Amino acid sequence: MDTLSLWINGKHTASLGGRTAEVNNPATGKAIRHVPLATSADVNVAVEAAKAAFPGWRDTTPLRRSRILNKFRELLELHRPELAQLASEEHGKTLEDATGSVQRGIEVVEFAVGAPHLLKGEHAENVGRGVDCHSMLQPVGVCAGITPFNFPAMVPMWMFPIAIACGNTFVLKPSEKVPSCSLRMAELLKEAGLPDGVFNVVPGDKEAVDALLIHPDVRAISFVGSTPVAKYIYETAAHHGKRVQALGGAKNHAVVMPDASLDFTADAIMGAAYGSAGERCMAISTVVAVGDIADTLVARLKEKADKLVVGPGDQKGVDMGPVISSQHRDRIVGFIDSGVAEGAKLVKDGRGIVVPGYEDGYFVGPTLFDHVSTEMTIYREEIFGPVLIVLRAESMNDAISLINSNPYANGTAIFTSSGAAARRFQNEIEVGMVGINVPIPVPMAFFSFGGWKASLFGDLHMHGMEGVYFYTRTKAVTTRWPEQSDRKTSTLAMPTLG
Ligand code: NAD
Repeated sequence: MDTLSLWINGKHTASLGGRTAEVNNPATGKAIRHVPLATSADVNVAVEAAKAAFPGWRDTTPLRRSRILNKFRELLELHRPELAQLASEEHGKTLEDATGSVQRGIEVVEFAVGAPHLLKGEHAENVGRGVDCHSMLQPVGVCAGITPFNFPAMVPMWMFPIAIACGNTFVLKPSEKVPSCSLRMAELLKEAGLPDGVFNVVPGDKEAVDALLIHPDVRAISFVGSTPVAKYIYETAAHHGKRVQALGGAKNHAVVMPDASLDFTADAIMGAAYGSAGERCMAISTVVAVGDIADTLVARLKEKADKLVVGPGDQKGVDMGPVISSQHRDRIVGFIDSGVAEGAKLVKDGRGIVVPGYEDGYFVGPTLFDHVSTEMTIYREEIFGPVLIVLRAESMNDAISLINSNPYANGTAIFTSSGAAARRFQNEIEVGMVGINVPIPVPMAFFSFGGWKASLFGDLHMHGMEGVYFYTRTKAVTTRWPEQSDRKTSTLAMPTLG
């Protein structure tokens, strides 16, 4: 079985320590390769390489950086099937789903290729008499990214293409469960002409993360993962003087109004709840059925969930693959047990599913609960699996206040045929990303991605212009070229212009 390596200074590099972890294929439950777990000494070497590469890369023109990223984009398109296959093999999601997620990552590279335009500052003539002012966006230095298991290619690509386009160098710590896409992308960046040291990959666990959080030469930390870890990352990195964006977990609600188109809504919810086995931070895990639509909606959801095919992600005709690990499967099953014990109505039970030929795979079937209340564990906790719960609300007011009381605020959606209801919802809902008849409202790369409340710690979202601002520092320059006749004697009073 292969053992992967680290990627430092443009080449595969062995870890200085001896710790490794198994990477499993969740469909078979078998180990497929080993991954090194980087030590803090490895992280120091990677940061040193990134620091050494920084001055040269900072001084490379944005246009040249952009050309390299454009070549990288071409290579990503060429290797999209290979990256999708790696993501599907290590994560378990279907090949079609993995291909779509690689594409969403490529779109961030397409955005980052606009670096020369994105990095233009502002200029104002005559901010005072004979005085002009302009601002510049300059890179921050060595940046680090720490990413989760559920999007092996896309989430890293939310970060490094923009960081690199802005003139920073980067150290990526991918999830130890799905390291291969990141290492393959490092090879493709080199093939595209990226100078050594600009992009480095250190697969690992908490030890590698902690080394990045406290390293004095790391200036910015981007994180995506669960809320407890996001909070820890934010607090620790901020304590060590770094800028931080730490995206956390989610509990995304879909409000279904009585005037929603039933079939369209049920189809949309199917994909959003059970796609990627519910392991998406923008998955719809909670439906709030308003008024008298609940019974018909639940019946329609069950009918559609009954038809979903569960199996290995690389097989044709499969709708839903396994979850990431046996521990995660057991945790999800534990949540289903608790829903039953706490009195929710189990409409469809995904426990105990066996996929012939894949008996050791980590499968949970689509699960549907009705009559869930806000005190139940299955409402309070992020399950991150194929478990959809339905709550009932009497009015849109009730639905909005229920969602606004939830600590998570990543995404939400409303299904309705009323423009007035939709407009009110988008105005009053306290959630970062909102869909109107769109179940998974992941913004395109030229908008920014991020939640509110316990779904994001920090001030700036990922990609779009907020990504550019996160990876740059603004400098404002005020200029005067006085004619001899304008030169006056100095004054000690606070200078004013105008
Ligand atoms: P996780 O928080 O367990 O791990 C994320 C990263 O942090 C990994 O690289 C991991 O190695 C590292 N890590 C784990 N525990 C750590 C610790 N104690 N100290 C330091 N580092 C640690 O998350 P996961 O299980 O990989 O991913 C699933 C979670 O990510 C879900 O909660 C999901 O909602 C969330 N997620 C959020 C978004 C978003 O945009 N908000 C996107 C994708 C996933």
